[in-house]
Amino acid sequence: MSEQEWESLCDGCGRCCLHKFEDDSSGKVYFTDVACQYLDEETCSCPHYQDRQNYVPDCLSINPNWEEKFNWLPSTCAYRLLYEGQSLYDWHPLVSGNKQSVHLAGISVRGRTYRDNEINENQLFEHIIHWVK
Ligand code: SF4
Ligand code: SF4
Repeated sequence: MSEQEWESLCDGCGRCCLHKFEDDSSGKVYFTDVACQYLDEETCSCPHYQDRQNYVPDCLSINPNWEEKFNWLPSTCAYRLLYEGQSLYDWHPLVSGNKQSVHLAGISVRGRTYRDNEINENQLFEHIIHWVK
């Protein structure tokens, strides 16, 4: 798969840019509705994608050899689905042919997040959500 094809797998949901907790004992990951301050709330994309580590040093680059970390991605993420041998959902832009379908299906984080620079870190636990698993 070329780099361009790999990148095109991203559905643009923005869910991976939400802060999350990992339970050390169970490995279960809990998402919050607090997003990286740089996430564009309308498009759910990163305006600094190419040089994002200059803005968020620990922002990760998803790659096919990322096996141990795929559980950090939401269950709907195309990269995780691919890793688990599952099909893309019909709202995925590559399936629907419409970039807006991820928003229309209510999968993206559009209109549902707080910015991390507006939230006290101690309050992060109160922002755990269940609409992303
Ligand atoms: S969760 Fe996956 S599909 Fe959604 S924006 Fe992040 S990388 Fe793309
Ligand atoms: S820097 Fe960009 S890709 Fe990384 S978490 Fe923030 S918005 Fe998402």
